[in-house]
Amino acid sequence: MNKPINMIKDELVRTAIEYRQNAYAPYSNFKVGAAVQGGSGKIYGGCNMENASYGLTICAERSAITRAVAAGEREITRVAVVTEAAEVSMPCGACRQVILEFGREADILCCDVEGNCNKYTTGELMPNFDDSDAFRNKLEEVKNKPK
Ligand SMILES: [Zn+2]
Repeated sequence: MNKPINMIKDELVRTAIEYRQNAYAPYSNFKVGAAVQGGSGKIYGGCNMENASYGLTICAERSAITRAVAAGEREITRVAVVTEAAEVSMPCGACRQVILEFGREADILCCDVEGNCNKYTTGELMPNFDDSDAFRNKLEEVKNKPK
C-alpha cells in the first residue's frame, strides 16, 4: 500500500469531506463522501445513501458521478473518496465500473477525513478491463452523442 499523502488543500478532497457530512447511512453508520472533477473542471460532490432495502443503497462515488453527468459532464478526470476507516477505503466494483465509463484515465484519491490520500489510476483499479479499440471507440461514440 502507498504511504498516504495529505491533500487537504485540494478542493476535490475538501468537497468529498464536506459531502460526507450529508451521508445517509443509518444502517451501517459508515459515512462516505466523494467528489469528482468533470472535464469542464467543475467539481461535484456526493455521499452514500442507504435504504431500508439494502440493495438499493447508492455509493458516494456513483452519487457524485450521477450529479456530474446530470450537469452535462461526459468525462471524469479525478475522483476523491473519503471515509473515516482506519485505512483508506477503496471504491467497490460497481463504482470502479462506473468510473471506467467516464474516466478511463482518471486519478482516484482514496482518503481519510483528515485528507490523507492514496492515489490510484483507473487502470490500477480496473486491470484487464476491455481496452480493445472496439470498446474504446464505442464508449467515445456513445458519450459524444448529442444530448
Ligand atoms: Zn461503490
